[in-house]
Amino acid sequence: MVRIVLDAGHGGKDPGAVANGLKEKDLTLSIVKHIGRLLSEYEGVEVHYTRTDDRFLELSERAAIANKLNADYFISVHINAGGGTGFESYIYNGNVSQATIAYQNVIHAEIMKAIGNVKDRGKKRANYAVLRQTKMPALLTENLFIDNANDAAKLKSEQFLLQVAHGHVQGIAKVFGLKKKASSSTPEQKPTGVLYRVQVGAFANRENAERLVEELKKKGYPAIIV
Ligand SMILES: [Zn+2]
Repeated sequence: MVRIVLDAGHGGKDPGAVANGLKEKDLTLSIVKHIGRLLSEYEGVEVHYTRTDDRFLELSERAAIANKLNADYFISVHINAGGGTGFESYIYNGNVSQATIAYQNVIHAEIMKAIGNVKDRGKKRANYAVLRQTKMPALLTENLFIDNANDAAKLKSEQFLLQVAHGHVQGIAKVFGLKKKASSSTPEQKPTGVLYRVQVGAFANRENAERLVEELKKKGYPAIIV
């Protein structure tokens, strides 16, 4: 059983970065919940959260949750700010395991693949508390810039947040060799009763797939490329 701890950055009295009518703490929670739900379609994985609602947690508490659970992996999700655009990921800039580096390589690439036309700011290292204090391999993702108008427009779309989550999940699945559950008809949303997933098209050319996704989104349908 692979045990993953998902950490939605900020929360409660700490909104994180705020701009363009968006709060980092809301976006991170939304992405993390999508990640958890998508991961539930896989076998052999146990998902834990540092928070599932709008509450404040110290950075050390977040790391402590993962350490206490003896988790296999810790992922902290953030939104960037301060002028710039695009996606970047971080691991600790001190001593880290080979697994930490390998997981970042794989997951970073899968997220870039999933979010389409977004600037790749690179795989970075920093002395962030949650990365330093967690005892297992850990990754922190900075998913676009809340104070950049173009990035913010993307972050306002639930569809885009789902794509971000999908990238994280593709990476996690690859890293840990996770297999989809046999009855993988897990619905994207969970109302009562059964939901059926509809496939609209299959394309050899990614551009064609992207065009269809754009068209469906314009019509108000949630769509992702898998
Ligand atoms: Zn943050």
